[in-house]
Amino acid sequence: MKTEEVEEKSDTTSPSDEPVHLEGIPGSPGLAIGPAVVVDVRRVGVPRHHVKKHAVDRELQRYDQAVEVAARGLREVSERIKGTAARAEASILEAYILMVEDEALRGDVERHIRLDLQCAEWALDGAVESMAQQLRDGGDPYLAERSHDFEFVGDRILGSFLGRPKALSLPALEEPSIIVAKDLSPAETAGLSRDFVLALVTEMGTRTAHTAILARALEIPAVVGVRGILSRLGSGDRLVVDGFRGRVVLNPTQKIIEKTTERAEKHLAIVRGLHELKDRPAATKCGEPIILRGNIELPAEAAIAIGEGSAGIGLYRTEFLYVDRADLPSEEEQYATYRKVLEVAGDRPVVLRTFDIGGDKFASSFQVPPDMNPALGLRAVRLGLAHPEIFSEQLRAMVRASAHGHLRIMVPMIAQLREFRAVKELLARATRDVDAAGHARAAEVPLGVMVEVPSAAMIADELAREAAFLSIGTNDLIQYSLAVDRTSRELAYLASPFDPAILRLIRGVIKAGKDRGRPVSVCGAMASDPLAAVLLVGMGLRELSMEASAIGEVKEAIARVTLAEAEGAALEVLELADGAEIEQAVTAQFAPRLSDLLDAGSDDS
Ligand code: PEP
Ligand code: MG
Repeated sequence: MKTEEVEEKSDTTSPSDEPVHLEGIPGSPGLAIGPAVVVDVRRVGVPRHHVKKHAVDRELQRYDQAVEVAARGLREVSERIKGTAARAEASILEAYILMVEDEALRGDVERHIRLDLQCAEWALDGAVESMAQQLRDGGDPYLAERSHDFEFVGDRILGSFLGRPKALSLPALEEPSIIVAKDLSPAETAGLSRDFVLALVTEMGTRTAHTAILARALEIPAVVGVRGILSRLGSGDRLVVDGFRGRVVLNPTQKIIEKTTERAEKHLAIVRGLHELKDRPAATKCGEPIILRGNIELPAEAAIAIGEGSAGIGLYRTEFLYVDRADLPSEEEQYATYRKVLEVAGDRPVVLRTFDIGGDKFASSFQVPPDMNPALGLRAVRLGLAHPEIFSEQLRAMVRASAHGHLRIMVPMIAQLREFRAVKELLARATRDVDAAGHARAAEVPLGVMVEVPSAAMIADELAREAAFLSIGTNDLIQYSLAVDRTSRELAYLASPFDPAILRLIRGVIKAGKDRGRPVSVCGAMASDPLAAVLLVGMGLRELSMEASAIGEVKEAIARVTLAEAEGAALEVLELADGAEIEQAVTAQFAPRLSDLLDAGSDDS
């Protein structure tokens, strides 16, 4: 692909002023130009020295003061974000505050200070480490996940000792800036203000990491997984961030800056134009209706998706209610959250996916037993069935929320029919419990299957017999069918939705749905690619679900193609045996008339 790297020459002769192009992963769409603020939020260094016996009370006092400062700082941020799109994250911070002030933690610290004569920082570090270790060793993935919360909380208190009174180590920004960090915790990301943060760049992370997901929810452009960036720049250095392509340019030339500004304006114009058409129903050029729905991770995104003209929520990734917090969400909390989403959606359907925890999702914070490959391990429905009490709590909350709209439940990572039957039984029991408790509910709550494991695609006809609907998760279907880790940058070239194996599996699932009269949709990232979306329509799909920002583009792409054209292309490419050839054929046929949409975020337009 053509890049600015080969085109551009520096404006000056100094090698340090040469533009440097770094590749990362697109985390959140958008472009930004501005000064970097490098944030060091790695674990802080811990002073370790012994104290004299007569000084132990003073050490404890220092600890109490540090706790007070850390809790105050967290409270401030929590208050600040309550009124924002990330208000759901305020509960994460509230959980952290409880942990900062935890009596058991204080007891442990006191023991280390009094008995081992350790200074307060050292005592705290030891106490945090042993609590985190206990959780990690317990064999329970939920508790193991909490170990990171303890470390985060420990860092916040340590930060207070070291004269960083802010709860979060992010500096107060004096001008709109681009935050560059090794990694940001969800709490740190949630606390960012869109007014001052032009973009985020992190060395760690993938598209499905929290930083990226929250950045999308906050509509802040982000590039994640940019290896080595911290060693190459300092605060104040100018950067161009391209959240569409996952690229960062250090020391951009005037020409790059002008080109980026032009692209940003062009993109804005297209987005505005599409937004104006948001109320137009989605249909092919010849009038075949297509249902486009939004994928959401945070409840606040529901309103954004509906605002983009979405016909409901096709995938609510409810696992985001569970992670990065000290406790599990209660039935009541979940019910209130789902209810809110349903109320926002009004009479449009909302598909709640039961939690899909594990796998790549929370690689930085979720631990599975060490002998398991996380992607092939205790993930999603497997984890739910292994913890029926936790799973049932979620199902009860969902059943109760069904009283407030058109709710459907979808089960991720089904690999066998028996798993689906087990969930069906749990759902029936949850429904009886809801009735027994006297709560209202819808007369019927359709239960569907996510087809994202090849075995599920192969038995789609059996699943379709027992499920109310099928939804194809192409992100995982590609990962599991082609044996390509979805987080791998090196193998990304193999993970093509145009691969014939993937298209054939999808074709089989569509046929199974048709034969059994069950609706089939695609909710993986494939649906948000305008070219792939046209192909899916040609293959027979009438329902697609995607991130809110893609709805306008996909609606417009579909509106420019007749059903006959899409069907003709599908028939033709399904005969081809090579993914690259298939992609080329689809591109050759449709890209010319979709070029403005395809180029919206591209840099080679
Ligand atoms: C998928 O796998 O395609 C999907 C939609 O689910 P997730 O990306 O959350 O795994
Ligand atoms: Mg999936």
